[in-house]
Amino acid sequence: MYGPKNHGWIEVVVGPMYSGKSEEIIRRIRRAKIARQKVQVFKPEIDIRYGKDDVVSHCGEKEEAIPINNSNDIVRLLEHDTDVVAVDEVQFLDDGIVGVLNKIADQNKRVICAGLDMDFRGEPFGCVPKLMAIAEFVDKIQAICIVCGNPATRTQRLINGKPVIYSDKIVLIGATESYEARCRKCHDVPKKDGV
Ligand code: ADP
Ligand code: ZN
Repeated sequence: MYGPKNHGWIEVVVGPMYSGKSEEIIRRIRRAKIARQKVQVFKPEIDIRYGKDDVVSHCGEKEEAIPINNSNDIVRLLEHDTDVVAVDEVQFLDDGIVGVLNKIADQNKRVICAGLDMDFRGEPFGCVPKLMAIAEFVDKIQAICIVCGNPATRTQRLINGKPVIYSDKIVLIGATESYEARCRKCHDVPKKDGV
């Protein structure tokens, strides 16, 4: 009923896995819906963690989402009377997402996106740094380091319980891959600097 007036804006929520990004974007989506704003939620199809058509947090909360393959799908599926556009797991989308979300904010809509700011190597993740730069609001949230209990800012990738080396992108067949939230000190990426 009452959408953002005069101009839109972009909000970005970033952090490592388990920091509560999905929880936070779900919370914002629900607040907007309570105010009877029209919300469209999108999610890259690549993320099939739980439900294919839902944004799901690790503690099981969920909101229905439209699965997309690329940033242009948002342009195609966007409805003119939408007040709020939410995109979860935004790091999996192409760089075109930056222009697409900017344009939507220019159309007086509120844009909320959430994603990983760093990959498992601790390096900036795809389009996310650019989105952080152009956003009006950025919230960088932390998990708790599973090793030492300090705030966790990084995602540790493990295969069969061992840290994955810097150059590794392939998951061995039969191996079990897992992720942990860790702080700068406990985050372990063997062979990062050739060491
Ligand atoms: P994200 O989208 O950032 O991965 P979620 O919202 O899906 O985060 O998950 C956050 C939830 O993950 C927390 O509520 C908690 O139940 C769980 N969790 C698991 N491991 C940790 C950890 N090490 N620190 C904080 N929360 C954790
Ligand atoms: Zn630690």
